[in-house]
Amino acid sequence: MDHDALSFDRHPRVRLLAGPTPIQRLERVEAALGPALQGACLYAKRDDADTLGGGGSKLRKLEFLFGEALSQRADTIVATGARQSNSARLAAAVAARLGLRCEVVLRPLPDGAGHRNGKDDEQTGNVLLGELFGATIHAAADAAAAGRCALERRAALEAAGRSVYLLPAGASSARASLGYADCAFEIAAQERASGLRFDRIVVANGSAGMQAGLVAGFALQGRPGLVHGYSVLAEAAAAEAHTLEFAREAHHLLGGHGELHADDVRVSDAFRGPGYGHLTHEAVEAIRLLATQEGLLLDPVYSGKAFAGLLSQARRGEFTRGEHVLFIMSGGAPALYAYRESLSDPRH
Ligand SMILES: *Cc1c(COP(=O)(O)O)cnc(C)c1O
Repeated sequence: MDHDALSFDRHPRVRLLAGPTPIQRLERVEAALGPALQGACLYAKRDDADTLGGGGSKLRKLEFLFGEALSQRADTIVATGARQSNSARLAAAVAARLGLRCEVVLRPLPDGAGHRNGKDDEQTGNVLLGELFGATIHAAADAAAAGRCALERRAALEAAGRSVYLLPAGASSARASLGYADCAFEIAAQERASGLRFDRIVVANGSAGMQAGLVAGFALQGRPGLVHGYSVLAEAAAAEAHTLEFAREAHHLLGGHGELHADDVRVSDAFRGPGYGHLTHEAVEAIRLLATQEGLLLDPVYSGKAFAGLLSQARRGEFTRGEHVLFIMSGGAPALYAYRESLSDPRH
């Protein structure tokens, strides 16, 4: 379906991106991979480009969530996330830009997740930035406690006369996915302008909103099965189920015809490692490769693991000759600072 025939405009939105994010070829990574790549071409879409709050994939999702918040006349945003949450950092930045208050409830990263447990590293990166953006930060013992704390904060703020919008976990929901459904049309426009056509799009999958939006957006353009996700959080089957649910609902919100099929959603958990926030050797290698060959920053929690998956597929000769592969650079570099010890450890 054509973009104009879809109901993007029916959903309130706040523009947070300056315009389309650039797509660039990764020639030096291609050269480093050598013959295993079999002539496939690698590209990065720079959704990490710094437009607001340090940039990152959450901005596209927050365009629709803050749109809803403003349409409900909210004056205060309450967000939850793991320590080093990019969505909490960006929620704080967007709230600052829009003149709203923001409170953030953070749960700890799992023990032994590769970051140092010292106070300094816990306060750095996204936590430091969230504070600079003016958010009030609360610490909770675990995910359940964080959920309770967020509800308590909402009740207390409402009792004090404020109007609160609670962001969904990871800033993911079907509505949030509309930002990435639109991104699928942005990519198609960039293809038309450049004469390129992508055969495969690779993304990290955390709370599933980014992949779901892309799946819905490409399905609406008659290009199913294009998007490959690497889960950093849930097991593959659960990630696929979440992604399909959001994608179907986003497709519906846009007035799409027909059904999305379960096999349009492809998620691997082979590069997740021991779990969310646990840095893996493969991710460290991917982060170092992109940094040293292209001067670009992946992040330790999401895109580093997804790019490690892409590299492994390339090395196993799984890309076909001439295939065009687009990797979504989703941001998250501030979390690198919290993993300083592991990233500077030569044993990794
Ligand atoms: C949140 C995030 C993702 C994953 O997006 P989801 O919509 O949660 O699946 C990927 N990369 C970065 C840097 C993120 O912050």
